[in-house]
This record gives sequence, structure tokens and C-alpha cells, in this order.
Amino acid sequence: MFKANSNYSLISESYLFSTVARRVEEYKAQHPEADILKLGIGDVTLPVCDAAVSELIAAARSQGLRDTFIGYGPEQGHKFLIDLIVTNDYKLRGIDILPDEVFVNDGAKSDLGNIGDILSIDNIVAITNPVYPVYLDTNLMAGRTVMMLDCTEENGFIPVIPSGKTEIPDVIYLCYPNNPTGISLSRNQLRCWVDFALKYGCLILFDSAYEAYITSSEVPHSIFEIEGARQCAIEFRSFSKTAGFTGLRCGYTVVPRELVDKNGLNLNNMWRRRQCTKFNGASYVVQRAAAALYTVDGKKQVRTNIDYYMENARVLRQGLLQARFEVYGGIDSPYVWTKAPVKINSWSLFEKMLESCNLVTTPGVGFGTCGEDFIRLTAFNTRENTIEAINRIISLKF
Ligand SMILES: *Cc1c(COP(=O)(O)O)cnc(C)c1O
Repeated sequence: MFKANSNYSLISESYLFSTVARRVEEYKAQHPEADILKLGIGDVTLPVCDAAVSELIAAARSQGLRDTFIGYGPEQGHKFLIDLIVTNDYKLRGIDILPDEVFVNDGAKSDLGNIGDILSIDNIVAITNPVYPVYLDTNLMAGRTVMMLDCTEENGFIPVIPSGKTEIPDVIYLCYPNNPTGISLSRNQLRCWVDFALKYGCLILFDSAYEAYITSSEVPHSIFEIEGARQCAIEFRSFSKTAGFTGLRCGYTVVPRELVDKNGLNLNNMWRRRQCTKFNGASYVVQRAAAALYTVDGKKQVRTNIDYYMENARVLRQGLLQARFEVYGGIDSPYVWTKAPVKINSWSLFEKMLESCNLVTTPGVGFGTCGEDFIRLTAFNTRENTIEAINRIISLKF
């Protein structure tokens, strides 16, 4: 008789978004007249920019012509896209990345989980609390031991580096700017993590999905800005939040050639081997659309959309501060992480926001125990709705 992977029983069902949706539906049924505004949206809302859409259409047409048809491409991605990534995302920021260190994929989430294929089950994996659930669940599925790095108000939601007294992890997931807290790490703070990883031989898996939202000059756009990171880090990037590719699906992973484990195994070679075995490349048409984001028009259009979201984030921050809420994030990220001026837990605050303001938010405790008392608001609604939502919060009485 076959056996299923019993590790799946260790993973809690993700009740968060389904519970939120069910509660909102209930409320709507009881209050059909309510003008409900959604500040819980975890997906971008502005459509894919014109530059990418034009290229998508042109690439689709070329697939229908004998002379321009393209079948299987390189598993690691087409050279035209990899060269644009190397030049624009790295060289222009003074970072040297080789083309064979870039692996184009169908979005960051796949690789954030798949990377475990080249890592031993024996590794102890450190994950922040609260956290984007993919890191936790994929490692539990694989049967790895997970340790939590608590992010709380006391440490400003920046995880404290394990000291000699505590257990030293082998693999560390870091996501900055962070989802859900919206917090970013300065160059110095990230340098401390890189130095720690180099000292103890840890591997940092750096999720940089929100890189395009960074506005602070002291916040690094890539972990490879930090000296020594090529010896200890893998970086994951995505066009999803940058350019509304959440439906088109494209991202990339950077695995430096210097990365070797304690026995001398080379992670770049292993990841190439893994991808060639299990992955046949991202869609050609979508890679053409991604390439269009690096044109003059594409860059301008992407910037316009991000600026729009970041102005919403500014409106959210400012309004919440005015309403005397505790506010984190929203400066280098589209997420604002906030706590009411009175003691009230995440789910009660969610209820209060729904019933008194007709606003949908996301309870912070759903991302981990350290998220208790907080809610996450996102900047992905329209300007008008964002302003209206903030006005309702400002007039809220506890
Ligand atoms: C949205 C998101 C991603 C990107 O996911 P894709 O699979 O590229 O759409 C990665 N990490 C975090 C933390 C995210 O919020």
C-alpha cells in the first residue's frame, strides 16, 4: 500500500484568507447596503503596462509564423531577458552578476519552495514570525526543523540575529522589504546578517519581491550590494509586484557561482541540474513581455504604477498616524502594518474595521503569533477608495 507524505499533517490549513472572505460575505448578506472597501488586497490591481502588452501580442503573433516560431527555450531563460536583468537590475547598481547565475522562472513562489530540492533535509531553517507562509510550509512539507525568529514591536519587527547562546540555523529566509510588516532592512542591518551567515556557514535565502517599492537610500535593492553575500546568499526576484505579472507569471533566482556547502558541493551547478531536470523554462511569450519592462517606455510605465501605489501607502500611513494608530511599513513597501490606539487583538480589530468602517483588512496574527494585535493594510486599492478608507478610520471611535 502506498504511503503519502505524512509531513503534510504538520501544516496548518491556511484559514486566514478564506476566513476573512467568509466573514465579509456574511457581513454583506446582513448589510446589503454597506459600501465595503478592501484594504486587504494582496494582489496588485493596476493592469499590465502598455509596453509589456504590446510585446506580449507581438510575441504571440510570432509564435504563429513558421519563420519566427520558438519552441523549447533554455531551461534557465532566454538570453535576451537574462542580459537585460544582468545589466539593469545589477550592473547599473554596481553589482557584477554573470548571466549563468540568473535563472528565469514562472514566479518567485515556485523557486522559494523548490530551492529545498538542493538542500539537505538535515538543515535547521530559520524563518521570521510573522511570515509569508511559503517558507514555513514548504520546509514543514519536506520534514525540516524550523526555528522562529520573533519579530515584535520591541525589536521594531527586525529579527534579532541568533547569538552564541541560541541555536544557530543553517538556512535563513529573509524577505525585505517585508510582507506582511512592510519593514525594510538598512544596508548596515543586512550586512550584520551577511556577516553572521559567513561566520557560521549559513545560507541566506533572500526574497526581494518588493525591491521596486524601495524609496529609502539606505535600503539595499539587492543582497549582493553587501560584501561577502556571493558566498552566502541566493536572491529571489519577481515581476509580479513590480509590474503586475501576478497572472502572467515571471521572476528569477540568482545563484552565485561561489556558493558551496561544507562538502564543496556547488549550488549553482546543482540548481542548474535541478532546473534542467524538473523545469522546461518560463513561457517564451511572457519572457518577451518581461523584457519590454526594461525599455525606456516600460521602465517609465512601471514607475508610474509603483508611484501610484506608494502615494496610497503614504496616505494610509499619514491617516493612521493622525488617528493615533501605531504604524510600521508603507515607506519602502506597499504594506502598512498597524495597531489600534487601544488594546484590541487582531481579529477584534478586523471585526471593528469591518463593522464600524466597512473596511476589509487582514488580521496580523494570521501571519504568525507575533502578528497579534496588528492588521495589514495594502496600498493596492484606488486613490479615491484609499482616501475614503482613511477618512472612515479617522472618524472611528473605540
Ligand atoms: C508576492 C510575493 C512573492 C512573489 O510571488 P510570485 O510567485 O512571483 O507571484 C514572493 N514573496 C513574497 C513575500 C510575496 O509577497
